[in-house]
Amino acid sequence: MAKRYFRPSIEALVGYQPGEQPKPGQSIIKLNTNENPYPPSPEAIAALSSLDPETLRRYPDPYATSFRQTVSDVLNVPSDWVLVGNGSDDILNIIIRACAEPGRPVVYPSPTYVLYRTLSQLQLTEAVEIPYETDFQLPIAELIAAQGAVTFIATPNSPSGHRVATADLRQLAEQLDGLLVIDEAYADFAEETALALVQEFDNVVISRTLSKGYGLAGLRLGFAIANPALLAGLYKVRDSYSVDAVAIAVGAAALRDQAYKDDCIAKVRRDRIFLAQSLQSLNFKVWPSETNFLLTRPPRNKLQGNAEAIYLALKQQNILVRYFKQPGLDDKLRITVGTSAQNEALLMALQRLA
Ligand SMILES: *Cc1c(COP(=O)(O)O)cnc(C)c1O
Repeated sequence: MAKRYFRPSIEALVGYQPGEQPKPGQSIIKLNTNENPYPPSPEAIAALSSLDPETLRRYPDPYATSFRQTVSDVLNVPSDWVLVGNGSDDILNIIIRACAEPGRPVVYPSPTYVLYRTLSQLQLTEAVEIPYETDFQLPIAELIAAQGAVTFIATPNSPSGHRVATADLRQLAEQLDGLLVIDEAYADFAEETALALVQEFDNVVISRTLSKGYGLAGLRLGFAIANPALLAGLYKVRDSYSVDAVAIAVGAAALRDQAYKDDCIAKVRRDRIFLAQSLQSLNFKVWPSETNFLLTRPPRNKLQGNAEAIYLALKQQNILVRYFKQPGLDDKLRITVGTSAQNEALLMALQRLA
């Protein structure tokens, strides 16, 4: 019988399950964790290659001043409205640790990013999950009634792909007493962002990442945008050196190269439309998406409409897509938009399964 070294809440916790990663050298079509199919900007690669070793000997700038200045230039927000994190997961973690504890619940519509639940459980706080209405209408009244210390809205949302209307977010910001965190991990792929709301409301935080739009998931760099008074509270919780010197240099170079990013995004959007139409012609239901992935439900006649069987059959052929074994999602697949060649290979494999 193992000793109980951990807090009872940790013993009881089912940890967050990240999407599968292939082993080094394994040749796989990886459409399961929404990475950008294109490499990061050549400017980012150049910044990495030309890094002065002195940069590694010293501690990094704890405030990532140069990166925050770049965010300021690119997104037109003051640099003291920006806080950096080790990926946006770190930002979400900082916010929950700063705001949530027993009696101060975390609230969000579901289905959404599962990490909100895991992080809440670590804080011993209640995670109040309000189901989305039909066709992903935001349950605004219920979200407000739940009185979260923090309310999370991922928009565009995962795994659905839909974007929440800015008018709905504005209504939430107006009526919530607690913080409204707008997780814009996929904003680079969307028709519209809610960034302007941080200027209108002192309880709004926007979270962004370089993992998806900029093809830098391996770098681990994200940031929050909010008014400096709010960020001051988050700074107390943050690790001073959570963002390393490599990420600061490479991230800034990537962010400065907007033309390259826009070009990659345009290709992904074009191929998303093609992939959606192709899946529909195979009788898959496809939900509208403003991201780099599609939520899709296989037709009833295909492998008895069994999404899990399709997921496993694709895996046999070295094609990874995301399957969530949970109510409401267990008949669906989330498929990341790959390169044209990857999408074609996926469609061929699905055709063979028909
Ligand atoms: C991918 C993702 C994140 C995490 O991004 P990182 O910056 O890589 O930590 C956050 N929120 C949502 C909704 C995501 O899909």
